[in-house]
Amino acid sequence: MKRIVILGAAESGVGAAALAKKQGFDVFVTDMGKIKPNYKEMLNERNIPWEEGQHSEALILNADEIIKSPGIPDAAPMVQKIKAAGINIISEIEFAGRYTDSKMICITGSNGKTTTTSLIYHIFKKAGYDVGLAGNIGNSLALQVAEEPHEYYVIELSSFQLDNMYDFRANIAVLLNITPDHLDRYHNSMQEYTDAKMRIIQNQTKDDSFVYWNDDPVIKRELEKYHIESRMCPFSIIEKQGMIGYISEGEYVIERPTPFNMEQEELSLTGKHNMYNSLAAGITADLSGISNEVIRASLSDFQGVEHRLEFVCTIHGVTFINDSKATNVDACWYALESMKQPTVLILGGLDKGNDYTAIKDLVLEKCKALVYLGVDNRKLHDFFDPLGLPVAETHSMKECVEACYRFAAPGDTVLLSPCCASFDLFRNMEDRGEQFKEFAHAL
Ligand code: ADP
Repeated sequence: MKRIVILGAAESGVGAAALAKKQGFDVFVTDMGKIKPNYKEMLNERNIPWEEGQHSEALILNADEIIKSPGIPDAAPMVQKIKAAGINIISEIEFAGRYTDSKMICITGSNGKTTTTSLIYHIFKKAGYDVGLAGNIGNSLALQVAEEPHEYYVIELSSFQLDNMYDFRANIAVLLNITPDHLDRYHNSMQEYTDAKMRIIQNQTKDDSFVYWNDDPVIKRELEKYHIESRMCPFSIIEKQGMIGYISEGEYVIERPTPFNMEQEELSLTGKHNMYNSLAAGITADLSGISNEVIRASLSDFQGVEHRLEFVCTIHGVTFINDSKATNVDACWYALESMKQPTVLILGGLDKGNDYTAIKDLVLEKCKALVYLGVDNRKLHDFFDPLGLPVAETHSMKECVEACYRFAAPGDTVLLSPCCASFDLFRNMEDRGEQFKEFAHAL
C-alpha cells in the first residue's frame, strides 16, 4: 500500500487526509503545532493516525509522497529533509485534482482573490449550478472531492498553493494582478513570486480559458514568455481594442462569448479595484454559459466580503471602514484611491518588506492624519512623518480607534487599511478587523 504523509493538520491537510484514506492509501498526518479539536475529531472519525507538536522523521521519511500545507515554508527543516530524501511534495489541490473530472475555476493574483472568488461563487449559485467553494476559503477541495463532490469548483489559489502544483489543470484560470507580496518566502525575488503566480496557466489546453487583467505591466511582460494554448480573455479599464471585457464611459461590457452590458453604477462593489474583480467574475460566468439576467442580478446584489473595504458604521458623522485584509501596499493604494472624504488612515503591523513610495501621493491627497498601530512603528515614522501630517503612535486597537476619532471631524472617514500583516498585535487579520469594528461601535 502506498504511503501518503501529510504535513500540517488544518483545513487543507485534514481534507487531503480524508481523501487519501478514501482512496485506500496508508495515511499519516503530522503537525509541529497543536491541532485544533475539530480537526482531531475529523481525523479520529476516519481512523487516520496523527501526531502533534513534533515531526517524527521515521514516520515521515518512509512516505511515497508528501502533501504539504501551503503555510509551511520550503525553508522548514523537515521540508529540507524530505527534499534531500527525494520524496515528491505536492499540494492538497494537486492531490485532489487527481480524483475528479469536475470543472475547475481557479483564481489567483496578489490582491482581490477572495473577493473575486466569492463573487464568482455567488453568480454560479444564483444560476443554480452545482458548485463548491474551495482553496483559501470554504472547505478544502480534497474534502469536497472525497465527501460532497460538485460539478464545478471555484478555487482561490495563493502563490503558496501554486508552488506545489504540477499536473493540475484549470479549466478557467483567472489572474487578477501581480504586485510584490510574500517576497520573504521567495528569496526576495519578484521573479520567483511571479513564476509561482504564472503556474495558474500550466497544463491548460485549447479547451480552457485564461482570464487576465490586461492593464497589469507585470502580467503583460510575462505573457510574452509563454506559449499559451488556452482561449485568451483579457480585460481592461483603459482600452477596448482586443478586450473580451472592459469598463468604459460608465458602461460594463463583455464582448464574448455572449455579449453583455450593464451600467457601471449598478455594480454593487465600488472602487477601481472592484471594477477589475467584477469584470473577471462576469467574464468567467459568461464563459460558463450563465445567462445575462443572472450575471446582471448577481453583479448588482453581491454584498462584498467582510474585512475588505467593509462599511462599519457612522458615528457623529465619522464613517469607519474596515479594510483589515489590506496586508500589502497595493491593496491600501486601491482603498485610498476609492476614498471620497478626508481620511484618517490606520497603518502598521508586521511589515513584509514594504516600500511605501507607491502610496505617498495618495496619502498626501486623501489623508488628514495618520495613526500608526503596531509593536514597532519606526519604519512608518521614518517614511511618513516627513510628509507633515498629524500622526499618532498607538499599540492597541482601543487606543488606535480613539486616536482616529480625535483626529476626525464630521464628514471624515476613518480607514483601517494597514499595509501590513496583523500578527504582532492580533491573532490574525480577522481579529484585527473585529476589534476595529467593536471599538468603533463602542465610541
Ligand atoms: P486576496 O484574497 O487576494 O487577499 P481580497 O479580495 O481579500 O484579496 O482583498 C484584499 C485586499 O485587497 C483588500 O484590502 C481589498 O480592498 C484589496 N483589493 C481587492 N481587489 C483588489 C484588486 N483587484 N487589486 C488591488 N487590490 C484589491
